[in-house]
Amino acid sequence: MRPIDRRTFNQMVAKGTAGAAILSAAPFACAMGSTQEKKKLGIALVGLGSYSTYQLAPALQDTQHCYLAGIVTGTPEKEKTWATKYDIPKGNIYNYDNFDNIADNDAIDVVYVVLPNSMHAEFAIRAAKAAKHVICEKPMGINVAECDAIIDACKKAGVKLGMGYRLHSEPYTQQVKQFVKDKTFGDIQYVGAEAAYRSTGNPDQWRLNKKLSGGGALMNMGVYAIQSAIYGTGENPISVSAQEFSTRPEYFKDTDETIMAQFEFPSGAVANMSTSHNFNANSMYVSGTSGWFLLQPANNYGPLSGRTSRGEEIKFPHESQQKLQMDDFAKHVLFGEPNKAPGEMGKRDMMIVEAIYASIAKGGQTMGLDFEPGFGFGG
Ligand code: NAD
Repeated sequence: MRPIDRRTFNQMVAKGTAGAAILSAAPFACAMGSTQEKKKLGIALVGLGSYSTYQLAPALQDTQHCYLAGIVTGTPEKEKTWATKYDIPKGNIYNYDNFDNIADNDAIDVVYVVLPNSMHAEFAIRAAKAAKHVICEKPMGINVAECDAIIDACKKAGVKLGMGYRLHSEPYTQQVKQFVKDKTFGDIQYVGAEAAYRSTGNPDQWRLNKKLSGGGALMNMGVYAIQSAIYGTGENPISVSAQEFSTRPEYFKDTDETIMAQFEFPSGAVANMSTSHNFNANSMYVSGTSGWFLLQPANNYGPLSGRTSRGEEIKFPHESQQKLQMDDFAKHVLFGEPNKAPGEMGKRDMMIVEAIYASIAKGGQTMGLDFEPGFGFGG
């Protein structure tokens, strides 16, 4: 029997055909320590900025099904500090130039792209070509074409692709989805969604540089408000109209400061979203024919908080959302559990982002959206 190399095996796991391979090549699979036999997947973080440093790496110390196995950084000083702090072997440390050599590293199963938005597509595609499973931070890219290229590369390589949409793994958001599915508050008629913070830092930061970010508040926090509108109704929108507001053009030279948008859904429900880099707001309010519920905050790192028209508090014990998210993705890879935030979800959101910018460019004109029902929904 022809032996299967590790990369081929990973691809078979991703395609769900590894079971047969294990049965027919059991001794070999045991000997090579396959992805499926691994209790924990090795994750390499690409980009060691604030999200990797303060959220993902600490969360990876508590994950059950994955661990911090490697790093990819463009800053040589970080190699030493991270290696010491997290006991990362030299062989699992890469820079942006030699990153493709990760293909030969069996300790790395998943590459998590945590770079400025304009770099997501390049590194997600390089990771897929190296036969590594990919987690891509939000927004998926800076346009829909990039999202398509990432999805295609992962399909071609037979690797799994997940978005860094941490809320889909945390209990408040799951409760929202359950309320909507069970019609606990009747048919949903309205969602109000806000995701915003006031930016006052370095005006030269990449988030305010369109080339690196793809856009301003909408690309950054706006994605959460779009998501709230969708899981708050349980539907993809059929149209959007949008408006942009600017009060600090000297600071927001290159990117949008505040955007509001209105969605229509197939059921007749409507949603209103606000996103900004100029004010603080973080909530989702969902109104149905027999009551309402509110999350506030709805999309920060938690603890989240909520209540309903029945006078109940929505309350769950707090856990790291990033820990839950990365474990969910690992369980998807290892055990075939549902992908809570597939690549198509990132693409759908980018299609909506593009429609919002198009509406603004046309003076607030209503733009039609034509999604297959459930397109981009996670499991
Ligand atoms: P950051 O600015 O703190 O870090 C960016 C990293 O990219 C740094 O390590 C920097 O050295 C590196 N980098 C490489 N090339 C660069 C360039 N040309 N310009 C600037 N930096 C460059 O950013 P962050 O907050 O860690 O965000 C990284 C990604 O993670 C973004 O896509 C962001 O949207 C996403 N993010 C997601 C969440 C979430 O809750 N899911 C939260 C924060 C950030």
